[in-house]
Amino acid sequence: MDCIFCRIIAGEIPSEKVLETDEILAFRDINPAAPEHILIVPKKHIQYLEDATGSDIEILGKLFLTARDIAKLLSVEKNGYRLILNNGKAAGQEVFHLHLHLLGGKESLGPMLTR
Ligand code: AMP
Repeated sequence: MDCIFCRIIAGEIPSEKVLETDEILAFRDINPAAPEHILIVPKKHIQYLEDATGSDIEILGKLFLTARDIAKLLSVEKNGYRLILNNGKAAGQEVFHLHLHLLGGKESLGPMLTR
């Protein structure tokens, strides 16, 4: 298995777990970009969004609902938080296993990178 997130999910590499369900594992990013920086990862290995199919609709929805639950768990939901999905090389995707980043825990997360 050469996917680092698959190895984390399998328990071969330690992680600081925040929440786990049958289908999703959420853990702290090893190199946090904000006081709260959580990676929300489907246990199913999906490399890019392009690899997701109609049968993945439920898991994709659950990623977002889990992000919402984690925001509440970490008490960042009132102040606000950002969700990021880096998809592919130009976006700087480093781990080729689909995941959401949840960033929060500071007064301002700064401007969104849209240009
Ligand atoms: P991305 O650029 O969206 O693929 O982000 C991958 C993220 O995974 C980066 O923010 C890394 O800091 C993070 N990361 C890589 N290895 C680990 C690890 N072993 N435990 C936790 N986070 C990791």
